[in-house]
Amino acid sequence: MSAQVIDGKLISDTIREEIKADVASLLEKGIRPGLAVVLVGEDPASQVYVRNKAKACEDLGFYSEVHRLSAETTQDELLQLIDKLNGQASIHGILVQLPLPKHLEEKPVIDAISVVKDVDGFHPINVGNLMIGDDSLLPCTPAGCIELLKRTGNSPAGKHAVVIGRSNIVGKPVSLLLLRENATVTICHSRTPNLPEVAREADIVVAAVGVPKMVKRDWVKPGAVVIDVGINRLPDGKLCGDVDYDDVAEVAGWITPVPRGVGPMTITMLMANTLKAAKRTNGIQ
Ligand code: NAD
Repeated sequence: MSAQVIDGKLISDTIREEIKADVASLLEKGIRPGLAVVLVGEDPASQVYVRNKAKACEDLGFYSEVHRLSAETTQDELLQLIDKLNGQASIHGILVQLPLPKHLEEKPVIDAISVVKDVDGFHPINVGNLMIGDDSLLPCTPAGCIELLKRTGNSPAGKHAVVIGRSNIVGKPVSLLLLRENATVTICHSRTPNLPEVAREADIVVAAVGVPKMVKRDWVKPGAVVIDVGINRLPDGKLCGDVDYDDVAEVAGWITPVPRGVGPMTITMLMANTLKAAKRTNGIQ
């Protein structure tokens, strides 16, 4: 058996076309979705992410601002900028690129972003709304995982989903979203005994661990859907996921590759969130 590939790039391109069409109709009403990205310091990976976000804004017709602050920026200076962006009408979404330099605390920064502009979905009120199932801005990578499932006809409803990883940015929110989609959800982590055995029970496996090629074929039930969130760099410089792709693809029914799987969905869902924030601010459904 050879798994069907879930092409995250292709699905992401389709969603971007849908967003573009929505932006065109907003522009007719004089509304242009706006995203502000804040980068503190010179972390090379963060610089690439920020450039990609600015490029996505340009491609989709969004207004965007990139605020590049020096590594010496103080907590107060950063909070002042967020306060200013919170009050700026042209900005519907604010994203502070994480991680921040060590002398800055992340939590007060996340808490300071206006709930309605929190397009990363990390503000405690948005996290709480996700928990109780209210409408909210959803964290981008988990929302991207759900889109990949739905758009390949793999609805989570009635399925047993096993999520490996319990981080606040991926494992926990993707578990809540799967639950919202009526899956039966098991959350595993570094202290789960018999992990391969638990994973083998799953109709859907989501791996968000950060350990290269950890999930092997004997962890996966034949025909299961495997969503690999991991992005790991191997010593030879190549990227790989948390799933041993070649091995697992022989038993899985569906599988996301790395790259071209979950990765491209993250920025696309950020754009979708910014569009949603712009619509909400203007009272458009
Ligand atoms: P994290 O380090 O915050 O959390 C990892 C989780 O895995 C923890 O909950 C931990 O309990 C669990 N874990 C660690 N070792 C384990 C083991 N041996 N067995 C079982 N569970 C174990 O990481 P994160 O931020 O959730 O990211 C996870 C992976 O996803 C990383 O590779 C990261 O680069 C990637 N990621 C990708 C995207 C994307 O856009 N595709 C976005 C965010 C994160």
